[in-house]
Amino acid sequence: KPLDLTVHLERIVDDVRYEAEENGLDIRLCTNSRPVTMMVDARRITQVFINLLTNAIRYTPRGGKITVKIENRVVDRNAFFACVSVIDTGIGIPAEELPHLFDRFYRVEEARSRHTGGTGLGLSIVHHFIRAHGGFIRVASQPDEGTIFTVYLPEGNEI
Ligand code: ATP
Ligand code: MG
Repeated sequence: KPLDLTVHLERIVDDVRYEAEENGLDIRLCTNSRPVTMMVDARRITQVFINLLTNAIRYTPRGGKITVKIENRVVDRNAFFACVSVIDTGIGIPAEELPHLFDRFYRVEEARSRHTGGTGLGLSIVHHFIRAHGGFIRVASQPDEGTIFTVYLPEGNEI
């Protein structure tokens, strides 16, 4: 059944708010008014954004900020997408690491990641689920400044 992406993301952000604040991070949701309703698997979409938000929390030092931004009817390759960006002010990812980020078990520099204790599966699951929904994901990052993951979910209507 159709899912209201805005309402769903509000719930997810509320679910991680305590953990973010415990880690000294400010977290907020920012949306451009119109509801974004689409046919997606709510549980998979939840896992996608929990993974992205867990990363943002894990890889952002205290005092940082996490923003979840929703935009609808974004045009890309002649189709409409709903876009959700997870923006952090964290440690960032070196450019040469970006092409491997969605590989299974890949973690940037074991040295910096070891103490945070993940498996390196989170982003490969995100990538797989987004593709299963006919969408795609992009990443932009600047070491010591932050990272933006943007998820594109198809809104159907070809232009
Ligand atoms: P898991 O998600 O399985 O617990 P993980 O977080 O290490 O482990 P991924 O979520 O797949 O694995 O992320 C892969 C690597 O990408 C991470 O080890 C980390 O180095 C880097 N990374 C992911 N998200 C961010 C981010 N927001 N800021 C900085 N680095 C990130
Ligand atoms: Mg992760």
